[in-house]
Amino acid sequence: MENCIFCKIIAGDIPGHVLYEDDHVLVFLDISQTTKGHTLVIPKLHRVDVFEMKPHEMEKIFSIVPKIATILKEAFGCTGLNVVNNNGESAGQTVFHYHVHLIPRYGNDGFGIRFANNMRNYDHAALAELRHHIVKSLEA
Ligand code: 5GP
Ligand code: ZN
Repeated sequence: MENCIFCKIIAGDIPGHVLYEDDHVLVFLDISQTTKGHTLVIPKLHRVDVFEMKPHEMEKIFSIVPKIATILKEAFGCTGLNVVNNNGESAGQTVFHYHVHLIPRYGNDGFGIRFANNMRNYDHAALAELRHHIVKSLEA
């Protein structure tokens, strides 16, 4: 896809510090290095986001994740690792070629994901209603 920075890395038009590659997937260092070893896993086919990914394409992405996560842990001695994927601008996506972030964690490393706790706004009846709404679409 023209004007896609990740497609340019796949094509070798701009440098990527590639850790692994096969016919379907490219794994390379994220330029921002949010934490040491911050890595991206992307499909070689241009897909914008999770909504465009096919199940077999997702399988290729996630089947390599445990191996890369383990290699990062061994290489840098991280004590944890976040697997993050942003879809859409409102979710923080800035590059519109699907990618999964592997972010090694070292304790006090300045990176953080906090999940707000809104459980006071959702009693069991409200959760049941949400569930019903979702499941009826799944069954359609
Ligand atoms: P997003 O915000 O879409 O989830 O993540 C996009 C990521 O792509 C960011 O972490 C950003 O640092 C990374 N990125 C943007 N441009 C480049 C580039 O040219 N090379 C590499 N290696 N990473 C990039
Ligand atoms: Zn692309």
